[in-house]
Amino acid sequence: MRKITWLRTLIIFVVSLGLLGGAGGTSINAAAATVTPFGAQRFTHDHATYVITTKSAYYRNVWQDAIRAWNKTGAFKFEPGTKRNAQIDLDTDSRRQSATMGDNVGVTQFWAEHNDLIAVVSTLNPELMSAFGYSHADKEHVAEHELGHAMGLNHNPSKDSVMYYRDRSVGIQKVDVLGVEERYHTPAGESD
Ligand SMILES: [Zn+2]
Repeated sequence: MRKITWLRTLIIFVVSLGLLGGAGGTSINAAAATVTPFGAQRFTHDHATYVITTKSAYYRNVWQDAIRAWNKTGAFKFEPGTKRNAQIDLDTDSRRQSATMGDNVGVTQFWAEHNDLIAVVSTLNPELMSAFGYSHADKEHVAEHELGHAMGLNHNPSKDSVMYYRDRSVGIQKVDVLGVEERYHTPAGESD
């Protein structure tokens, strides 16, 4: 993906997952979750190649678990690629960089051309997750959330979705799987 960042027609998007703030949070929307919404961008097919570039064995495992969880749904297939040609780069921020992530435990950047996803970089923030006592399962949910963005999902206003904008404890739900399926049955350029 580094090789193609010079292309002028590429548009970059950045989406993130923030910490759950203190004080009870908001009680918006206890209603049943509806299908997780998606944006105009998608990969050409319902599969894409990835490479895990973090040097941390622990976080390789977190990414791997999240990939396994999504692949199990059958809605999309993440396939192993190489550093050279993978469409999706899965990483962690270094201790030094993590300050620049603010209160984001995960960030996904994607590059699109005519609403076709060309490259995606998803980054986890280990420093912040450790500081807030995230369990392995919580971290996996953050990774699943970022992979959701990588496939083209937007945030779901419901807490019963891995794509809730401050998700921590909820994994992939039926509404999220349906969102991915709808995303890949809907042409690029159309969002729901
Ligand atoms: Zn997000």
